[in-house]
Amino acid sequence: MVSCSLCNMKIAELFLEKLKGTIVKKVGSKKQYPICFACQKKYDSKDELLAALK
Ligand SMILES: [Zn+2]
Repeated sequence: MVSCSLCNMKIAELFLEKLKGTIVKKVGSKKQYPICFACQKKYDSKDELLAALK
């Protein structure tokens, strides 16, 4: 089950098995961060989104 890295909302479950959102990667890291559509909309740019990740 995929959960949003920011709000922990289960992405696939809430959107009927469809992944609505995005996957972001930090520069120099192989780790992937799934981000739900709602959190994606909260940030204007991918850079701001990445900055919000711990
Ligand atoms: Zn989220």
